Amino acid sequence: MMQRQPLPILTMNPEFLKRMEALLKEEFPAYLASLQEPVHRGLRVNTLKITVEELKKRLSFELRPTAISPTVFEIDSQLTSLGHSLEHRSGLYYLQEVSAASAVEVLDPQPGEWILDLCAAPGGKSTQIAMKMKHQGILFSNEIDPGRARILLSNLERCGVANAIVTQASPAMLRKQMTGWMDRILVDAPCSGEGMFKKESQALKDWSVAHVEACSQRQKKIVDDAVAMLKEGGILVYSTCTYALEENEEVIHDLLENHPEMELLDCNVSFGRPGYDRGKVYGRKVRRIFPMDEGEGHFVAKLRKNSMPEQTMRIEREPFFSSLQAERFLSEQLKKVPLLYHHHYQERLFLVPFEPLKLNRIRILRQGIELGELRKGRLEPHHHFYVTALFKGLYARTLECDREEAERFFRGETFPCNDVWGYTALEHRGICFGFAKADGTMAKNHYPKGLRMR
Ligand code: SAM
Repeated sequence: MMQRQPLPILTMNPEFLKRMEALLKEEFPAYLASLQEPVHRGLRVNTLKITVEELKKRLSFELRPTAISPTVFEIDSQLTSLGHSLEHRSGLYYLQEVSAASAVEVLDPQPGEWILDLCAAPGGKSTQIAMKMKHQGILFSNEIDPGRARILLSNLERCGVANAIVTQASPAMLRKQMTGWMDRILVDAPCSGEGMFKKESQALKDWSVAHVEACSQRQKKIVDDAVAMLKEGGILVYSTCTYALEENEEVIHDLLENHPEMELLDCNVSFGRPGYDRGKVYGRKVRRIFPMDEGEGHFVAKLRKNSMPEQTMRIEREPFFSSLQAERFLSEQLKKVPLLYHHHYQERLFLVPFEPLKLNRIRILRQGIELGELRKGRLEPHHHFYVTALFKGLYARTLECDREEAERFFRGETFPCNDVWGYTALEHRGICFGFAKADGTMAKNHYPKGLRMR
C-alpha cells in the first residue's frame, strides 16, 4: 500500500495559510514544519474484547503511549494493511487518529446512561463510547448519510457492541422524538476538516472561506437540535477536526447566546492546550490539539444543561416476545443464556440488553444484537451474534483456528473440519471472529460477503 507523502506547502490555499498565521502567530512556522511530518497514526484497544496487555502480546509492532488515554496509542505511520489483520477483523482494535480519541475522554460516558452520538459514522467515537459503557445503558448511534450509516453499523458489529440503537436520521428528525432524553450527547460535527489535510486531499480541495462559513451555519443548527435532546443536567460535548474559529469557539459562543440554560464547563483533561477567548467562550475551558501537540488537530468543548425549557418527549417501548426457535437456538449455542429482551422486525430477531424502544418515522438499522433471521421456521444466525463481546467465552460449540485458517475464512473459503456438526463459533486464542456451518467433514463459510478479503 502506498504511503502518503508529506504535503508540499505550495499546494495549500494561500488564504488558508494567511488565516493560520493570524491564528498561530509565532507558532506558525512550527505548524508549517508539521505539514512535512508523517501523520500521527493511532490505534485504540477495544477493551470490550481484550485488555491492553493481552493485545500487546498478540501484535508484532510497537504501541507508543499517548497522553489522551491508557487505551490510545500512537503507531508507526509506515505500517500497512493493519485493517486486514486478524486482530482488526476480530474487533480487538480500532484505527483512529490520536487526537480524534480526545472528545470521548472529555464526554466521560458512564455505564447505564443514555448517550447519543449524533454524527457517528464511521464509528470511531461510537465504538469508544460503547467501550466505556460496558454494555450497560443505551448508545444511540446516528448517521444522516445512508452509505456511511452502513459502515457505522459494520464497525459497531466488528467491535462487538451489544447496547446500541443504530439510526439513520437528521438531527431535526431525532429531536422530534428524543427531546429531553439524553444524559450525554456527542456532536462530532461535519466540518471543513483542516486537521485532515495531510490524510484527505479532498478536504484540501474543498476548502474555501465560504465553505468554512457554510459548515459553521450547519454546525449551529446541529448543536441547537442536540441541546433540545439533553435532559436537565445532561452533558454536551462538541468537537471538530478543524482549526477555524467560526467552526469552533464561535459555534459555542452562538450556542451560549441562544441557550441561557447551557453552561460551558472546563474540559478538565491534561492533554492538548487552551483554545481562544471569543465572546462568552473562555479559551481556558475548551481544548485544542494542533499537529505541534499530539495528533493532527481537534477542538473539544464541554457544556451542561442546567434547566429544561422544552417538554420532554414520551418514551414508547416495542412489544417484546419470546420465540421458541430463538430459545432453542440460544440454549444449544450458549453455555449460559443471559437475560435479554427478544425483539423482532419482520423476520429478523434481535437480543436487546434494554427494553426495546419504539421510534416513529426514524430509520432504525439495528437495535441490540442481531441474532438471525427466521426462514421457513428455522433460525439462520447472523455474524453479529458470534462477534458480540457480550457472549465472549459463552459459545458452546467452538473451533479453535490458527492464523492461516482464519485468513482462509476471511477470504470466504470453506475448510475441512472433522467431527464438527452444525453452527460453530470460530475462535483464535479464545476470541470469536465468525461462524461456520459444519457437516462433520467441511465447514461452510458464513463470513459476510461485503467483508471478505479479495
Ligand atoms: N464521529 C465520527 C467518528 O468518530 O468516526 C466522525 C463523524 S464526521 C466528523 C461527521 C459526520 O457528520 C459525517 O459522517 C457526516 O455524514 C455527518 N453529517 C453531515 N451532515 C450532517 C448534518 N446536517 N447533520 C448531522 N450529521 C451530518
